[in-house]
Amino acid sequence: MKFKNYPMVARVVFGRGSFNQLEELIEPKRLHVDAPFIFIVDNVFKGNAWLTSRIPIKYDDKILYISADEEPKTQQVDELVEKIIVNNKLKPSGIIGIGGGTILDLAKAVSIMLNNKGDSSQYQGWDLVKNPAVYHVGVPTISGTGAEVSRTTVLTGPERKLGINSDYTPFDQVVLDPELTKDVPKLQWFYTGMDCFIHCIESLNGTYLNAFSQSYGEKALELCKAIFVDGNLTDQDAQDQLMMASWHGGMSIAYSQVGVAHAMSYGLSYLLGTRHGIGNCIVFDHLEEFYPEGVALFKQMKEKYQITLPSGLCKYLSDKEFDIMINVALSLEPLWENAVGKNWKKIITRAKLKALYQKM
Ligand code: NAD
Ligand code: ZN
Repeated sequence: MKFKNYPMVARVVFGRGSFNQLEELIEPKRLHVDAPFIFIVDNVFKGNAWLTSRIPIKYDDKILYISADEEPKTQQVDELVEKIIVNNKLKPSGIIGIGGGTILDLAKAVSIMLNNKGDSSQYQGWDLVKNPAVYHVGVPTISGTGAEVSRTTVLTGPERKLGINSDYTPFDQVVLDPELTKDVPKLQWFYTGMDCFIHCIESLNGTYLNAFSQSYGEKALELCKAIFVDGNLTDQDAQDQLMMASWHGGMSIAYSQVGVAHAMSYGLSYLLGTRHGIGNCIVFDHLEEFYPEGVALFKQMKEKYQITLPSGLCKYLSDKEFDIMINVALSLEPLWENAVGKNWKKIITRAKLKALYQKM
């Protein structure tokens, strides 16, 4: 048995208003006046002076506003890298992602690809990245995915939706300022928050579970329950605590894995473009067989916040389309092994997955 030696986020700042310190955090990392910092910022903040006036632009630094309407694609990463190389005298001193999981993943992927040859799709998988990334900073503005702490950046490529999992992926610096999440719309808050809840359930009920993952997973689950089940916290406490739940949920899956909901939601996302948070909810709602207690709790939270999930997504799909989703889901072997055990192939048949997808 060989134990994995995982990297972690090197530095982290936590606190309401800590975003104001961004300049002092990054300035020592500037390599040259012609080597800019590139801020990759969610388009939702364009024109929002409360946030953008605090982005510390100097010299040739640039802000790139990017829409999070679609999740990151390998081609999008390659184009961004090309644009950054063409438009700047020197390679950037750093990449700073300000946004949700979509933007954080883009920032991670761009920082890797600035120092590695070829297309980003070549690096989808485990430990394929050769050179360390450019210095990169993550500033989450919505909580739940754990992308701020994880060792992966999830990209949809020509052949699959799969992360670039590598020792060079985690951020060098993260700024956890819960105040930045104050304007997240309620539905999105629920969907992305449920991503964290589902990380906990999949990790805590997986065969890969160990004391490391359990300690983080249990804390994250406790916080999720306080926020979404009890719901007695002030807005500020709920924002603070969800940000830490996301962090712990991400740490929990670092040393284990996610499970059935993620595997199947990757299939939905690949074929239909269903976003991660809502896709996980749509799938998880039908997984009582695998996660009875977690699904019961989920239904309770759905009820409390009066969430009606979309249905009938797979109603008109052809057999060929079902096959595409099933192939994507089944290709995520570690997720199934974690969820069901070493003999998962005997239990998780194509027919079983099709029957589950047909309910969604
Ligand atoms: P997101 O980044 O896709 O954003 C969702 C929506 O919320 C967008 O419309 C965005 O503009 C909006 N938004 C974000 N912050 C806001 C704010 N403060 N105020 C108002 N609106 C705001 O959402 P997400 O759920 O955080 O991220 C999903 C992505 O994360 C997927 O691409 C998924 O693959 C990825 N992911 C990555 C990891 C990882 O470990 N790398 C883990 C889980 C999910
Ligand atoms: Zn997730």
